[in-house]
Amino acid sequence: MTFIAIAIPVARTDAVSRALDCARLAKSHGADIVEWRVDTLAQDAGGPAAVARLVAESPLACIVTVRDENEGGSFAGSDDERIAAWQAASAALPACAYIDVELSTYHLRQPIQDAVKRIAHAGERTAQERPRVILSFHDFRGRPAGLSARVAEMWADPGSAIAKVVWTARTVRDNLEAFELLKMRAKPTIALCMGEHGLMSRVLSAKFGGFLTYARADEHGTAPGQPTIHELIEEWNFRAINSRTKVYGVVGYPISQARSPAVHNAWFRAANIDARMFALSVAPMWEAFKATLAEMFGSPLLDFYGAAVTMPHKENAIRFVEEGGGSVEASAKRIGAANTIGRAADGTLFAANTDADAIVVALGGSTVAGKRIIVLGAGGAARAAACGLASAGASVVIANRTVARAKRIAEEFAKADGESPALDVRAMSLSALAKHSFDVVVNCTSVGMQGGEAPDDDPLPDAVKLDDQSIVFDAVHTPAQTPLLRRAAQGGSRCIGGSEMFQAQARLQFKLWTGSLPPSSL
Ligand code: NAP
Repeated sequence: MTFIAIAIPVARTDAVSRALDCARLAKSHGADIVEWRVDTLAQDAGGPAAVARLVAESPLACIVTVRDENEGGSFAGSDDERIAAWQAASAALPACAYIDVELSTYHLRQPIQDAVKRIAHAGERTAQERPRVILSFHDFRGRPAGLSARVAEMWADPGSAIAKVVWTARTVRDNLEAFELLKMRAKPTIALCMGEHGLMSRVLSAKFGGFLTYARADEHGTAPGQPTIHELIEEWNFRAINSRTKVYGVVGYPISQARSPAVHNAWFRAANIDARMFALSVAPMWEAFKATLAEMFGSPLLDFYGAAVTMPHKENAIRFVEEGGGSVEASAKRIGAANTIGRAADGTLFAANTDADAIVVALGGSTVAGKRIIVLGAGGAARAAACGLASAGASVVIANRTVARAKRIAEEFAKADGESPALDVRAMSLSALAKHSFDVVVNCTSVGMQGGEAPDDDPLPDAVKLDDQSIVFDAVHTPAQTPLLRRAAQGGSRCIGGSEMFQAQARLQFKLWTGSLPPSSL
């Protein structure tokens, strides 16, 4: 079992009672271990007594840590102060299970090494009564040089019971190195990555038999990237993670606001599928995408089964699968972008685009046949909309700020392409739209999108009239009520928001990966 530890900094003697309350609360939320971070408390004259109380009254097994300034802590005191804190903790046994000592301190400072050996190994006490030593190494700047050698050194030291290495991940690929260390471990090991790229290492430490992972008790935590206990236990269903848990990712840049992990993880859980999806931030270059996906899908450890792909990597998704000898679904090829990569039954990769079908689904499926539809925009979403709707039998007019881009798409789609037939897609300037009548307007520009270049604008020219016979679909999902949808609602039109497309494309992705649609009740 991989323990969940909560690190609680205790800065002063008058903070002990509050810290103990915090640990009791963490226990009630499911934490297994509390790490008392007594970096500054250890420098206080009353420090040893306060540490003894923390340990004696601790509601959970505890780690006592006096973290040095050089490794992300705030201890700048003397060796004697540090040793006094550990001695106080040790005297309060059996509650204190572990003391954490940095590898550098342990090796470079003989008095510390001697004291730790005395505390952890000498005396009359049985093995259960002695604190065990965690030798640790932290690098907040990035991956430490000589990572494997340092970990091997910690494994080899007979004085340590547990090895701990924590570093700031430079990319999501660093997580794989943490997993390799856990797999190769010669003794109980903690290997975690900090920062925006490191969440996977924290959640999946249970898959690889990590000794513990850390969760936050409050909004701060003691290292960047820690999830809260609630997130870890409830949202990530941490206790159910095991060596066979499958892994999925949503790949994009930026990706921090991605909704896919919450949605797919809820569906996986409801469908009793042992899998977790993570947001993978991958720099907006082909090389970064290729390297990340190759490592994820190629890892013999990770059980990586699929990726949802979002901006700006949808074109890279096609190239990646094609270069790897996999298959690209015809409509994704025609659109020139894929939002889904998965593994076929024979292990080869496939790429598909569920955006096109999702727009058709959001607009009522086969009822779009014969409808006259304006698609606004000429980016990836517009290509998917035009291809999906025209393939479903609609007559599509594509209009865009940059008219030449719309024309190019119309010319491309109006020609038969391999097995794909010619599609009824024409280009028109925005100003010409008002001269024609339409049944449906589909916005695939980013106009109206929160955080975009024109969040307060409406992409449809005023001269185009909307009434109670019109259907207006806006691919923009944030905000739910865009300026275009507000205008449509005022005209009595039927309004469909981008969230419906998001749900529909995610449901189709889930089916491609698992063989069935997700439970419809969610
Ligand atoms: P994209 O490739 O960047 O294309 C953006 C389009 O918007 C281009 O046609 C661009 O016109 C147009 N545009 C941007 N700013 C404009 C402005 N101020 N005035 C007029 N036109 C403007 O983006 P995309 O991937 O196609 O995505 C488009 C929108 O769809 C985004 O808001 C995205 O979030 C949304 N989307 C939603 C879902 C969902 O599941 N709901 C899925 C995919 C996409 P130019 O060609 O003239 O630059």
